[in-house]
Amino acid sequence: MKNITVIGSGTMGNGIAHTFAQHGFDVSLVDINSDALLKAVQTITNNLDRQLKKGSIDERGKTDTLARIKTYTDLQQGASAAHLVIEAATENRDIKLKLFKQLSEICTDEAILASNTSSISITEIAAVTKKPGNVIGMHFMNPVPVMKLVEVIRGYATTNIVTQTIMQLAKTLEKDPVEVNDYPGFVANRILMPMINEAVYTLYEGVAGVEEIDTVMKLGMAHPMGPLQLADFIGLDVCLAILRVLYDGFSNPKYAPCPLLVNMVTAGHCGIKTGIGFYKYTAGSKELSVADKFR
Ligand code: NAD
Repeated sequence: MKNITVIGSGTMGNGIAHTFAQHGFDVSLVDINSDALLKAVQTITNNLDRQLKKGSIDERGKTDTLARIKTYTDLQQGASAAHLVIEAATENRDIKLKLFKQLSEICTDEAILASNTSSISITEIAAVTKKPGNVIGMHFMNPVPVMKLVEVIRGYATTNIVTQTIMQLAKTLEKDPVEVNDYPGFVANRILMPMINEAVYTLYEGVAGVEEIDTVMKLGMAHPMGPLQLADFIGLDVCLAILRVLYDGFSNPKYAPCPLLVNMVTAGHCGIKTGIGFYKYTAGSKELSVADKFR
């Protein structure tokens, strides 16, 4: 397995491309937005510079990694030679179903088609392709070059050989893969998102302010980051999309997204990526944002 295509060059796509390229794979990074591709290459360069400063790579490692990444806005050009595709496009069911239908036509029958989705059914994605046995979830954590976990999700039709290949591949990337079955939110987000949603409800009901909620969870539960800061980091739009998948998938009101989260996403306050969420972000600083008015 040599040619890897990564689709979507946002928060996750650039990290996935970086990680594969650093481990010697040739990466085609595809996005419909050419500005997003430029931004991704800049982010990868900045992150490699940080690794260089820390001494975890040398100058050659940086140039070789960058040389292995090619960018495309055309799916056919970027994906036709892929041995493995990892889709990391926007967390939207219709976008993913359309992409996998196209990939099923473009790629060879042997290609493995993986999705980095946080919550959308792998079984449903696989069902629109010609070879559902070759479709699997490969759920990296953010930031990809740093985080060790890869949640490997077996869809209903995923074959043993495809599962074993992806488990082994994750180890080649120096990650720790965990195999799970395909139910809404899998394991990571089924547990994480209700916690984040409850933190937003705690703020919404005026129980405590943003910093107080985050401090309780950091100091009291030894979490490295409070749930509201983590939500900003993940993207509030991504959190909302995952909660809606859990709500619909289990038909259970306990997953209903907090109205404050819905309002913030509607207003475009999506966290770090938009410069404002529960905190306000300017280059190098983090302040409390308007969401703390419930304090
Ligand atoms: P993002 O919004 O940062 O980036 C998504 C990118 O996909 C954008 O650049 C967009 O232009 C591109 N895109 C949209 N439609 C496309 C198409 N048809 N073809 C090619 N590119 C397309 O999103 P993200 O946070 O990187 O999330 C990507 C995926 O990873 C989602 O499925 C998300 O659930 C999952 N994920 C996110 C996180 C996180 O912390 N953000 C963690 C794990 C998994």
